[in-house]
Amino acid sequence: MAYKKVEHFDEHVTKCLIKNYRETIDLLGEDANREGLIKTPERIAKAMQFITQGYGVDAKAILNSAKFHEEISEMIVVKDIELYSMCEHHMLPFFGKAHVAYIPNGWITGLSKIARVVDVYARRLQVQERLTTEILDAIKETLNPIGVAVVIEANHLCMMMRGVQKQNSVTTTSAFDGEFMKNPTRSEFLKLISSTLH
Ligand SMILES: [Zn+2]
Repeated sequence: MAYKKVEHFDEHVTKCLIKNYRETIDLLGEDANREGLIKTPERIAKAMQFITQGYGVDAKAILNSAKFHEEISEMIVVKDIELYSMCEHHMLPFFGKAHVAYIPNGWITGLSKIARVVDVYARRLQVQERLTTEILDAIKETLNPIGVAVVIEANHLCMMMRGVQKQNSVTTTSAFDGEFMKNPTRSEFLKLISSTLH
């Protein structure tokens, strides 16, 4: 087998998290020693480290590592980027899609890198608004484009499962910079992604 993906978890962090989650399970009225729950604290400990892996990654370095000189001044749109993040207020997931566009100013990046940047910022404790602007800022600072736009649509489990229980509400956030501050460019972008918008 030529390809092998290796998962690595911090041993100390994992150990402490396991202890915490075992206590959490007991505090919630369950029995952490019950057969079905025996390995649950370890699974959560690993899942949470995976879900928050974005802290260890530099999104701008990813973009800088794949910067290509190219005389293109057409809008580049990457839409329907799958997104999974954690709301920092309740530590419950929010998930949906990101749509990103930029107009290059001599520099482009690999299309997969845009999706990677979304992932790096999503894999943290987040609020959707900040996630949107962090993606925009990373692209703006590394590629110095003529314009950049980010739209995120997401369902928040903290809204769906608890509190107001609005199961079907979708939260849309957007951030625009440069050329996208102007109506025609922004409209063109919104039209290009409109088929997928709710
Ligand atoms: Zn929340």
